[in-house]
Formats: sequence, structure tokens, C-alpha cells
Amino acid sequence: MYIDKLYLNNFRNYENQYFEFSPQTNIIYGMNGQGKTNIIEALYFFCNGKSYRTQKDTETVKFGEKEGRIKISFDDEQRNHTGEILISEKKIVKINDIPLLKLSEIIGLINMVIFTPDMLNIIKEGPGVRRQFLDILISQLRPVYFKTLLSYYKVLMSRNNILKSGNKAMMSTLDVWNDKLAEYGCIISKHRSDMIDMLGKEINNFSFEDINENINIKYMSSIKGDFTDKENFVKQLEKNFEREIEKGITLTGPQRDDFDILMDNNEIKKYGSQGQMRTCVLKMKLAECEIIKNICGRTPVLLLDDILSELDEKRKKFFLNNIKDKQIFITCTTKEKINSESCRYFNIKNGNLAEE
Ligand code: ATP
Ligand code: MG
Repeated sequence: MYIDKLYLNNFRNYENQYFEFSPQTNIIYGMNGQGKTNIIEALYFFCNGKSYRTQKDTETVKFGEKEGRIKISFDDEQRNHTGEILISEKKIVKINDIPLLKLSEIIGLINMVIFTPDMLNIIKEGPGVRRQFLDILISQLRPVYFKTLLSYYKVLMSRNNILKSGNKAMMSTLDVWNDKLAEYGCIISKHRSDMIDMLGKEINNFSFEDINENINIKYMSSIKGDFTDKENFVKQLEKNFEREIEKGITLTGPQRDDFDILMDNNEIKKYGSQGQMRTCVLKMKLAECEIIKNICGRTPVLLLDDILSELDEKRKKFFLNNIKDKQIFITCTTKEKINSESCRYFNIKNGNLAEE
């Protein structure tokens, strides 16, 4: 799957700019603040129907303008399509000139994996960021997962309210809530642990010639023993009951899940260098591409914003010259040359494509 053309009109610092991309590597380079990430954002916007940088679409419209436009042409391995998003108070999306009735229909037309510098938080920050990463990935691939997750958190909230209330009559209904919590909780744990297994298997397929940092990803459930067994889940809820009443909160279940990322058997968060952490997240993103390809049958487009900083020359060269089976967009501040005739370079200056 690849995006061959992009036209931006009043999007961020672009007034009118047309791009023709390579179906393989696209290197978008230029000084700080010129509009490189804005291109990545526009591509993401088209694939997901919204930005990842802001909740307010209109912030992406060029200062002083009322509406912006992203036009795209893409190939889904069967045929070529055109798409257009009009960004204004009311968003309008057209695919092949036909307006979509529901904006959400745009999601999934182009499979995409993105790296932004914030994603280093998957390693550096607390478990919430890691759970979110897993939830977004699994929801994309398994729609039933997202529904189960919503149901789980609804039950969890009700159960926590009962625990907090200390009300005896309400407490007597806890059995019913425990049962539901365990039912949804086991489904979530199973999906998460399966995804961690898949990531773990794929991630080490991308090893360097002589730099072999072995990455292991381990699912950490707060449920002891078999986390896919409903009875076991309920038993642990019952065991923790006294402590839960004391704290007014549910102490076991997927809301406390985490995963450990180990580099050569040590926690990368504690012992890894900046470059090693970046390399690890990049490998996770490549693994994500493989998983999407295996499940959906289409190779996703890979958007990499600022992945190369902090990587030494050897690692840079390795990545740039070895990811050839998919379309990639990479932003960087200097022109990184690669050995491929099909690679295209885009020099960005102040919201314009400068002459090479
Ligand atoms: P860096 O190398 O620092 O990451 P970059 O090339 O990725 O830089 P971008 O984030 O793409 O930079 O673009 C930033 C520029 O876009 C800034 O100059 C900013 O003022 C401008 N900009 C952001 N939003 C708007 C907007 N709505 N209208 C006009 N210009 C905007
Ligand atoms: Mg940027």
C-alpha cells in the first residue's frame, strides 16, 4: 500500500503545495520549524480522520484562513484511489469524489504505523502509556477488543463506586459485578498477551549485522496464575476484598497491566542508552508493521518523525538501507543519502518544497 500524491492547501504553514512520493523511501529534510512534521501530520490526518497533535481540527488550518484541505492519491494494492478532507468547522471527507456519510469510514482505508518522538514514552514513562499503545494497536486489528475494553471500564467504574460507597446493600451486588469484570477482563488479558507474544516474535527479526541487542517483551498481569481463567480472576477479587474496601478501588485486573521491555535480559528503561531506546521503539514499530501485514494482508505505510536523531551513523545507515519492502516517510534535519534509486528527497523551507 502506498501514497503517491499529496496536495496541501492552507494546512499548517503550507499555502499550496503538491508532493509526488516514492512508493519506497521518502526523505523529508530541512531546518527546524520549516514544516517537516506538518507533512507527517497531514498524512496521519488522512489515514485517521484527525490529527495526533491536537484535538481541534481547525488548529491545523493555516493562520488567518477559514478552511484547509488535504488531498491525497493512494494505491491499496488493487487500485488507485483519491481522497480529500476539507478541514473547517464542519469536516467533509470524500473518497473517489464521493462524500463519506460517516467520517469514521476513513479509518483503515490506508493502513499506517507512526513513530513520533513522544513514543519514546512507551519505554520511559509509566504503565498507562504502554497499555494505551497496546490498546490502540489491538483495537485497530480486532474491533471486538475495543468494545470489550469499553464494557470492562464501565463495569470497573461501577464496581469502584460501590467499593468507595461502603453501602451494605450495594456491596451485596458485588458478585454480579465480579463476574462481569472477570468475563471482560479475561478477554482483554488474552488479547494483550497474544499481542505481546507477536511483538516479541517479530521484533528480533530486525537485527543489525554486528549489533545484536536482543529484545524481550514480557506481559505482566496483576492476576496471579492463569489470567485467562475467569474463576481464577474472581477468586483473586474475593481474596483482595478487604484491602479493596479499605482503598475504595479494584486492585487486580487489566487496568493494572504492564509489559516489561528487556534488552539482553536487563530492563531497557533502567539500563538502555538513548540510541538503544530509540532503536528499540523503531524495531517495535517495524514489528507492528509486520503484525498488521500478517493480519490485514496489506503492508502499512510507515511514518517516522525524527527517528534518526541520537542514532549513530551505523544504525542510521542500517535502517535507511534495509527497510525496502514498504513505503516510508522519514523526517530529518540533514539530507540522509541512501543507496536506492527509488528514494526521493524533499527539501522543506518555510512551508515550501525547495529546489534540490
Ligand atoms: P523540527 O525540525 O523542529 O521538528 P519541523 O520542520 O518538523 O521542525 P513543523 O512542526 O512541521 O516543523 O512546522 C512548524 C512550523 O509550522 C512553525 O513555524 C509553526 O509556526 C508553523 N505552524 C504551525 N501551525 C500553524 C498554523 N496553523 N498556521 C500556520 N503555520 C503554522
Ligand atoms: Mg518536526
